[in-house]
Amino acid sequence: MSGETTNNAGSQENSDGTDPTRRTPLSATEAGGGSSEHESTANATWSRLLAGNRRFAQGQPEHPWQDPATRESLIDAQHPDAAVLSCGDSRVPPEIIFDQGLGDMFVVRTAGEVLDSAVVSSLEFAVDTLHTSLVVVLGHEHCGAIQSAVAALSPLDEERLDELDRLVTDSPSPIIRSVGGSVLESRRAGLDDTDDFERVHIARTIERLVTESESISAALGEGRLRIVGARYRVSDGVVEVLSF
Ligand SMILES: [Zn+2]
Repeated sequence: MSGETTNNAGSQENSDGTDPTRRTPLSATEAGGGSSEHESTANATWSRLLAGNRRFAQGQPEHPWQDPATRESLIDAQHPDAAVLSCGDSRVPPEIIFDQGLGDMFVVRTAGEVLDSAVVSSLEFAVDTLHTSLVVVLGHEHCGAIQSAVAALSPLDEERLDELDRLVTDSPSPIIRSVGGSVLESRRAGLDDTDDFERVHIARTIERLVTESESISAALGEGRLRIVGARYRVSDGVVEVLSF
C-alpha cells in the first residue's frame, strides 16, 4: 500500500471535506493561486487517480468517500479536482476504475467520448466554475464506437479516399463523423489496429476540445489546467497514460 492510499483511507474520518491530502483546499482556488500551484494540484490529482486505478486493477479497491458522512459534507457544495470525459460503455465507469468517491470527479460520458456543444459546455463549467485543474479524456480498449466506425467505413476501398471522407463528413451520426474521422486519420498514418484507432481518437478529441473551447484553451494557456489523454484496458483494468 502506498502512502497515498493510506492517507486516502485514513482521512475518511474527516467528514468536513476539507482534507488537503485529498481535495483542493477551497482557499487555493478562491485565492486564485498561481499557475505552479494549479500545476502541482493537477499532478497530485492525476497521481491520486492512477493510484486508485492501481488498486482497482489489482482487485484491492477501497471504495473511498462513499459513506454518509462524506455525502453530508458535500450537501452544499462540490469541489472536484478532476473532470473526466469518457465513453458511456458500461465497463468503463470512471469512479469505479479510478476507485474514487463522492465529490472527487466531475464526469461527462458519451459513446466514443464524442464531443458536442453540451459536452464542451459541461467541461467548461467544470474548469471555469468548479476550478478543476485537470481534465482527463478517457478512451478505452474494445470501444464499440470505434468498431461501428470501422464497420461503417469498411465497405469502401481504401483507394477511394474521397468517398471515405464524404461518408464520414456527410454521416447523419455524430459518432461516425467524429470517430470515423479518427479512424480515417489513423489509416492515412499507416495504422490499422483498433488499439491505435482508439489512441488516435483520444488525441484528436483533446485537440478538438481545445480548438472548440476558448475558455479551456485560455485555462491551458494561463497554466490553470492540464489535460491528460488516457486509455482504459478492459482486459486487465489498467489505465494507460497517453499524454500528460
Ligand atoms: Zn467506448
